[in-house]
Amino acid sequence: MNQKYNILLVEDDARIRSFMETVLTSNGYNVLETDKARTALSMAASHNPDLMLLDLGLSDMDGQQVIRSVREWSNMPIVVVSARGHESDKVTALDNGADDYVTKPFGMAELLARIRAALRNSSLRQNSSGASGTVIRIRGLMVDTEKRIVKVNDVPVHLTQIEYKIVALLSCNAGKVLTYDVILKEIWGPYASCDTQLLRVNMANIRRKIEKDPSMPEYITTEIGVGYRMADYDD
Ligand code: CA
Repeated sequence: MNQKYNILLVEDDARIRSFMETVLTSNGYNVLETDKARTALSMAASHNPDLMLLDLGLSDMDGQQVIRSVREWSNMPIVVVSARGHESDKVTALDNGADDYVTKPFGMAELLARIRAALRNSSLRQNSSGASGTVIRIRGLMVDTEKRIVKVNDVPVHLTQIEYKIVALLSCNAGKVLTYDVILKEIWGPYASCDTQLLRVNMANIRRKIEKDPSMPEYITTEIGVGYRMADYDD
């Protein structure tokens, strides 16, 4: 890695924090760390890290409040570390502006993949003016966002307009979870009266068209109670 990314690690469990710091450092990241939400907010402002890794259960302030405070002034990627089974916490965190999450206990490979995807999506956002790359390739899937063509293993896939929009949206956010709410608003507009059932029906049709085995999707996976995630470029 030419340029070292700075990660602000906010975790109040000293053992987990030290373990994560070791792994992140050995993977080429600079790590700033704290166990307190208030310190995290001041470090976020003073160091402007490339990414914040945030445990939601902190002693001095709710992690959700940390997300809302950071989002008042910064788009820095925030990856939340959440306890297993707290789906509503994840959705709230994403709605508050977090970019993604990992669930405890997590594997380091998964954590590193989430960090890479969040950093890449944030640099894409920053460079989106004048971006020329319109072809997205994820394994055998190819999405050409200029010609609005989707192919799987070089075979064109016929999608309805809505299906295409969903695939394109998820592909532009490869590796990152998108909540049902975000997808619904992006595809049908902020005031459209539609429910997740409509999205589910479209997703079933998309999977039938792009997946080898729609019951074991390779491209678009379901994050139960949260949303959908397109596979990352390199995992
Ligand atoms: Ca904690």
